[in-house]
Amino acid sequence: MQTYEVIIVGAGSMGMAAGYYLARRGISTLLIDAFDPPHTMGSHHGDTRIIRHAYGEGRQYVPFALRAQELWAELEQASGVKLFSQTGVLSAGAHDCAFLREVRESAERYSLPLEVLTAQQVRERWAGIELPDHFYACLEPASGVLYPEKAIHAYRQLAAASGATLLTNTKVTSLQMDGEEVVVRTDSESYRGQKLLVSAGAWNKPLLQDLGLSVPLVPTRKTIAWFGADESLYGAERFPAFVFHLDDSMFYGFPSIDGAGVKIGRHDGGQAIDPDSLERTFGCYLSDEGDVRSFLETYMPQAAGGLRQGKVCIYTMTPDEHFIIDRHPDSPHIVFAAGFSGHGFKFASAVGEAACQLLIDGESKLDLSMFSLSRFS
Ligand SMILES: Cc1cc2nc3c(=O)[nH]c(=O)nc-3n(C[C@H](O)[C@H](O)[C@H](O)COP(=O)(O)OP(=O)(O)OC[C@H]3O[C@@H](n4cnc5c(N)ncnc54)[C@H](O)[C@@H]3O)c2cc1C
Repeated sequence: MQTYEVIIVGAGSMGMAAGYYLARRGISTLLIDAFDPPHTMGSHHGDTRIIRHAYGEGRQYVPFALRAQELWAELEQASGVKLFSQTGVLSAGAHDCAFLREVRESAERYSLPLEVLTAQQVRERWAGIELPDHFYACLEPASGVLYPEKAIHAYRQLAAASGATLLTNTKVTSLQMDGEEVVVRTDSESYRGQKLLVSAGAWNKPLLQDLGLSVPLVPTRKTIAWFGADESLYGAERFPAFVFHLDDSMFYGFPSIDGAGVKIGRHDGGQAIDPDSLERTFGCYLSDEGDVRSFLETYMPQAAGGLRQGKVCIYTMTPDEHFIIDRHPDSPHIVFAAGFSGHGFKFASAVGEAACQLLIDGESKLDLSMFSLSRFS
């Protein structure tokens, strides 16, 4: 049985980044993925992801977001591939919106650039937005859009160039602790790891069960759709990425990049699923198109053109929608990164680096305490 210093199960957003940071430090690393990343079966496809720094989900995320942004810039340099567009990100909601309050407070706490705009100022600046008077908005000019497939591909190339081994189209079927090591089984072979990172996205729960861990994760079906839009209003050179908090829902979206149309998704809701039997046809639920079209008709009417395309993707939710990044309570040589709850991609670079530090140095430079598994016990 071949032995590696570290085995990574799941080489998607988090796992591929970790593989690069490990290999760069000269650690013998085996990455195993059930598909051929980047791919369309998990949580990282769909061309674009928003990166925000002033964080409505909690100001504790800000140092993590800033470190992630630095690492994305380093990855752009190392790979020579454009991975980020600084479109700015506009968050909008009613005057009493708790998310927007946290955006403002986290910007203040960390001295982040932020413009606070009335509804009228928003309408004057972006003629494509219909914002009611009881709303306001925060523009983060330094934030923007990441290109997830390109980023994972860049990490893959650089990890391989640094000596990592990647097995694609190879599903891990079981994990077993064996003294101070771990045995990782696939259909065809078994591998021995001195250390292990479990980063299998929507498939994490059963793998972690093999290691005696009960982790509260709910894979959830989500959709995204691209609509024909007036390019003079919604083109990426003039229109920001956006997050809208309504009374009972939250929508996010992207300007039309290279004429692709406005891409939009609904963040809340979705159907709890088994990722192996996920209904992957966009449009099989009326809400796949209906929810986002009705949002656009109300708030961005000139972006509610014909449906260009729709895709199905997976969120893996935790009960409090915060991540789980931790070491096994009894076996510190095992680390897991799970439950990114629909807002994890922006952090993938920093999660990869932190997972590498946890495995090799025993602790990460960023404070991960809010992501501990024990908060659910
Ligand atoms: C529609 C949509 C929009 C989103 N928008 C944003 C956004 O704007 N900003 C943001 O920050 N985040 C966003 N997210 C969330 C973000 O994309 C995810 O949090 C992130 O991609 C999760 O990364 P992951 O590594 O956990 O999963 P993945 O990237 O899916 O990686 C998991 C990998 O594990 C592999 N795997 C699974 N089981 C096995 C096995 N048994 N053996 C071997 N390999 C296995 C899979 O093949 C996969 O490659 C969005 C997500 C979706 C679905």
